[in-house]
Amino acid sequence: MIKRRGSKPVRIGTVVVGGGAPVVVQSMTNTDTRDVGATVAQIKRLDEQGCEIVRVAVPDMEAARAIPAIKKAINIPLVADVHFDYRLALTAIAGGVDALRLNPGNIQDHQQVRAVVSASKEREIPIRIGVNAGSLPPNLAGQEPSGKPQGVSERMVQAALGHIRLLEDMDFDLIKVSLKAFDVPTTIAAYQRMAELVSYPFHLGITEAGTPRAGSIRSAVGIGTLLHMGLGDTIRVSLTGDPVEEVITAYEILKALNLREHGPVMISCPTCGRTEIDLVGLALAVEKRLEGIDKPIKVAVMGCVVNGPGEAREADVGIAGGKGRGVIFRKGEIVRTVPESELYPALLAEIDKLLAETS
Ligand code: SF4
Repeated sequence: MIKRRGSKPVRIGTVVVGGGAPVVVQSMTNTDTRDVGATVAQIKRLDEQGCEIVRVAVPDMEAARAIPAIKKAINIPLVADVHFDYRLALTAIAGGVDALRLNPGNIQDHQQVRAVVSASKEREIPIRIGVNAGSLPPNLAGQEPSGKPQGVSERMVQAALGHIRLLEDMDFDLIKVSLKAFDVPTTIAAYQRMAELVSYPFHLGITEAGTPRAGSIRSAVGIGTLLHMGLGDTIRVSLTGDPVEEVITAYEILKALNLREHGPVMISCPTCGRTEIDLVGLALAVEKRLEGIDKPIKVAVMGCVVNGPGEAREADVGIAGGKGRGVIFRKGEIVRTVPESELYPALLAEIDKLLAETS
């Protein structure tokens, strides 16, 4: 059981982040925000996959003006990602966004920051301070107490604190914090340090993590380690590709740590010299079949009768291959034997039975 840090909750539309609420999964569109149709279509696909908060980039006024139409057509909270120009933030707020990602220290004029904070306060819109290691201001090259130059993680923390203080000085505390780096140990160190200093909820991520294969692993290691330490209230996996993959990976991370249930979990063996059936083909077919099922069932696909059922004792239902035949098992106990050609349909029938029993 993971003991989670006691963070201060903030509400983003209908979703609570922090304060012990379940870890929230979010993603970001990669469409042109000005293209309302494409952006809404992508958000709907993300929503279907379980995305609970979505962020859109707001690089110009046309994108900011697209917010009301996007907001009207979607069912999950919408976050506007704004840099530098306070007018974009004000337009996004007026357009109905549920939260902002904005670093107030990047807006030069104090009065402009005040205008954004006052509009956010009025509508109770949280602001995420998002510091990325790649875009740290150069003037933060301070020193550690030891006299050594500050490390990147400490510079990230100091940069975030600077933004946080600006908001706090304006009596604003609907704050979320992210401290993302490509380097996993740097990211972990930054969040650990920040956890000693503030109680605002944390948005976790490993920035520019890469393409789906490498990026998922990098994200799983970084985000997973932090979550296991109890740090983290919402996560975004950043992948170069379809953002729907980000949501799938995010849930796999949360499921691996028993932090969230989300659809089936599949257990399958790596195969070995004992395997006598096309287990890889079978596992892929079962995985495909499980797509779209929202119940948190555990299904095992194992290569042999000798070790399979015992190794997959946690599975609700499973199959184990053998020579010319295979077995169906439930919770590690063999319930019947079927010819190899009937293994797949027999497993599907067993899954249907299980789903009917748990509905
Ligand atoms: S379950 Fe059987 S076939 Fe699969 S890896 Fe283990 S021993 Fe090998």
